Amino acid sequence: MTPATDIRRLFVLLCGYEILPKTISTRGQGARFILSEPVCAYLLDTASGWVLLDAGMNPENITDPARREAAFGRHGMTPPVIRAPHRLETQLDQIGVRFADIGHVILSHLHFDHCGYLGHLRHARISVQRREHAQAFEADPGVAYIRSDYDDPAIRWDLRDGDWSAMPGLHLLDTHGHTDGHQSALLHLPGTGPILLPFDAGDLRENFTQELLPGECRDEHAALAAIRRLKRLEHDLGASMLLFHDPVEIQQMRLAPEYYD
Ligand SMILES: [Zn+2]
Repeated sequence: MTPATDIRRLFVLLCGYEILPKTISTRGQGARFILSEPVCAYLLDTASGWVLLDAGMNPENITDPARREAAFGRHGMTPPVIRAPHRLETQLDQIGVRFADIGHVILSHLHFDHCGYLGHLRHARISVQRREHAQAFEADPGVAYIRSDYDDPAIRWDLRDGDWSAMPGLHLLDTHGHTDGHQSALLHLPGTGPILLPFDAGDLRENFTQELLPGECRDEHAALAAIRRLKRLEHDLGASMLLFHDPVEIQQMRLAPEYYD
């Protein structure tokens, strides 16, 4: 039986690349390898309007020398690559959507590669786990948080606790571990069926096949439980899993302005 769904189409937006030692994705393994990992966001065409899942990277953190140094240089990190076709405004334009048309943004967590365009989305409801919001506003939440991207009094936060449903066919899953309040998404498309979006619960396919922890974990036991939970759902539902950071699989995905329906 096909579950009821309000989701009509899923657009995968490729928002740029991060240049990283592989240990960022696979804890303690692959330090010699430097990966170029994609950063995605997902736009949903739904019965109640446009919904954005994650919000890309802020180009100003790269183009502004002082911000680039503060965000990346002083931590010894290579700045991400965002070319013109990766910009969120470019991709939305190709689909015929404006920032103002997006009424709801759901964030997996508040690392900089997931919330970079919040400054363009102040009019929208911004849903995030309460525990994620708390971690992000700690004095020193970690180098992957760029406070200026999300510390904005104009943002209308919608704080959530654990699993929740945004609408028929769009479910958010508590997959904390990578951070205190990381969440993943399960959505149902009318033709394609169930799709799992793990975000950073597992960056690469091998995080799931070999049950490898993400490089950064606030809670290792929870991070492993999250990987196993998503694997189980993939199997039990026969779901397709679209990986957020996998440099090989991104090349096989249907990218915006194409879509899954
Ligand atoms: Zn992350």
